[in-house]
Amino acid sequence: MKKQPKPKVAFFDFTDCEGCQLQFANMGEVLLEIAELVDIVNFREIMSEQGEDYDIAFAEGSITTDNDVKRIKKIREKAKVVVALGACATLGGVNGMKNRTPLDVAKERVYADKADTVNTIKAMPVHEVVKVDYFIHGCPVYIPEVITVIKCILMSRPYVVPNYPVCAECKMNENVCLYEKEQECMGPVTRAGCNSWCINNGNRCYGCRGLVDNPAADAQKDILLKYGLKMDEILKHFTLYNDSLGDKYEQQLK
Ligand code: SF4
Ligand code: SF4
Ligand code: SF4
Repeated sequence: MKKQPKPKVAFFDFTDCEGCQLQFANMGEVLLEIAELVDIVNFREIMSEQGEDYDIAFAEGSITTDNDVKRIKKIREKAKVVVALGACATLGGVNGMKNRTPLDVAKERVYADKADTVNTIKAMPVHEVVKVDYFIHGCPVYIPEVITVIKCILMSRPYVVPNYPVCAECKMNENVCLYEKEQECMGPVTRAGCNSWCINNGNRCYGCRGLVDNPAADAQKDILLKYGLKMDEILKHFTLYNDSLGDKYEQQLK
């Protein structure tokens, strides 16, 4: 039987810190196993070659300039599969904070008298510009989920991102709830899939995977009731990621 050619994979970064690609690069042996199944043709953090022929494109970072818009559209034209990698790409990420301020004010604050020379537009997740086939949330991405998504891509199956709160995973992991320790946590309204990574390691959830689709109806009601919490109050304290979709999230909470 004729051997099928391996799919070609390319990584592209837009406005971001490249921490999600770094997660990939740090996968060690697993990355070698993935490399058996695909040809990595473009990955600036681990190789110097830059192949322009690819089937699967991982797009990391938010879209914040006209040039970003042109680049991602070209990538979409070439790739059979586009994957949004990490919170910057799936939500707009921390870059989305600037969307709460009029653009000219934000530019002036950052670039002062050079503001007019800078080309920047509102921060957008990749799917606001082109069709995205797979979403890998997180800041940074959670490697076990990355591996699951890669398997789905290679088997041409959809990956359904969990649509229940981090609290569900946190309870399965038998963590003591942070509200019990008088600390705040975004878990009740944040989309699961990271296996409550931060809470397992002594931190709180900052909401890096975005909100569940309908937090007003689907959030972890027993946690909210037990600790007398309101979702909009939780969200008020955690704007790091959730400012990026500002008005949409406010609507979701009504
Ligand atoms: S999602 Fe977080 S870790 Fe990933 S590129 Fe953006 S800022 Fe960096
Ligand atoms: S609120 Fe935070 S600490 Fe408490 S159960 Fe939910 S995820 Fe865990
Ligand atoms: S626990 Fe919260 S902040 Fe941490 S990885 Fe999961 S969703 Fe992101």
